[in-house]
Amino acid sequence: MTKGGPSMGRKASARLHYRCRRCGNSSFHKKRGICSYCGFGASSKIREYSWQKKNFLKTK
Ligand SMILES: [Zn+2]
Repeated sequence: MTKGGPSMGRKASARLHYRCRRCGNSSFHKKRGICSYCGFGASSKIREYSWQKKNFLKTK
């Protein structure tokens, strides 16, 4: 299960996500300027989905 070859090492070192100002997670995309975790940059609202809840099946 090897894919990519030796060049994959360089790819891993490149930082794409930085620490988000709003949620604190390192999910802020450098180029897009959007946080993949809370949606900072894309919308003023906090990105939230029902499936994020841990006990979603129980509460349903
Ligand atoms: Zn965020």
